[in-house]
Amino acid sequence: MSFTTRFAPSPTGSLHLGHAFSALLAHDMARAEGGTFLLRIEDIDRQRSKPEWEAQIYDDLRWLGVDWDGPVMRQSDRLPAYEAALDALWQRDLLFPCTCTRRDIIAAASAPQEGGDPVFGPDGVVYPGTCRTPKREPFSMQSRPSGVALRLNMRLAVMAASEAVTDTPEGVRSIVRFVETGRGPNGETGVIETDSRWLETRVGDVVLSRRDFPGSYHLSVVLDDAAQGITHVVRGADLFDATRIHVVLQRLLGVPRPIYHHHRLIRDAAGKRLAKRDDARAIALFRRDGASPNDIRRIVGLPLR
Ligand code: GLU
Ligand code: ZN
Repeated sequence: MSFTTRFAPSPTGSLHLGHAFSALLAHDMARAEGGTFLLRIEDIDRQRSKPEWEAQIYDDLRWLGVDWDGPVMRQSDRLPAYEAALDALWQRDLLFPCTCTRRDIIAAASAPQEGGDPVFGPDGVVYPGTCRTPKREPFSMQSRPSGVALRLNMRLAVMAASEAVTDTPEGVRSIVRFVETGRGPNGETGVIETDSRWLETRVGDVVLSRRDFPGSYHLSVVLDDAAQGITHVVRGADLFDATRIHVVLQRLLGVPRPIYHHHRLIRDAAGKRLAKRDDARAIALFRRDGASPNDIRRIVGLPLR
């Protein structure tokens, strides 16, 4: 299998050391394998994505010595693919419309009958199921609604995506798997299994179509990795649990599953994870202060070029 990987930044701020590490690592791995390194601009957040940030990403990457192969994919050009996948999932009754606001969700998830405290999973507060309908039978052939969020019915989704089952004292659970060649946040590596109970209780009914855009991070990333022929996903360990969601979607959508390589996160001096707003770590600032690309490699702990 030839090695094809990618770097997929969102143009919502400057690239910082964490992005540089991710891009350099994926790029170096592709070059070492004689493979392909692709670039994708994840600009589904139309409010926060800005052409200036996109231009700066290209500039910073070139400066770092990260050269990409072929044309850049932009998620804002991918709507027809997202629409088609949403239609297919809708026809299978795996999606339901949701009109809840963030406040509604927190209020419902904090209700005493829900245990009082909202559960936080890799996708934020676990959706308490407010708008989930048992079955839309009479309306199944209705066309997919627009202008509302569409959520995945996780219980039905995992059943449909199941690769194996395991018998536990609490009942039979479905399992999905992926191969990890790096490490998750707790050192997880090798064949990673996720069971239906974890997905239902820790992730829940994730949004696959946003109110303002026919797609969502999870849906787009899975479809785009497939469309770009990605064989190896190299990205931060903060996305390790999101991968558990992505493998469910890959099964549902019938697309190939890449191998995953989650890498350590670059932290600041205080050990805190870098966020986009930590401008002090912006590559643009290092450049302005006269740093070289090898200085960046040294700081993030990669071999020099
Ligand atoms: N666009 C995501 C980010 O900037 C990365 C997504 C991915 O690598 O799957 O955090
Ligand atoms: Zn809802």
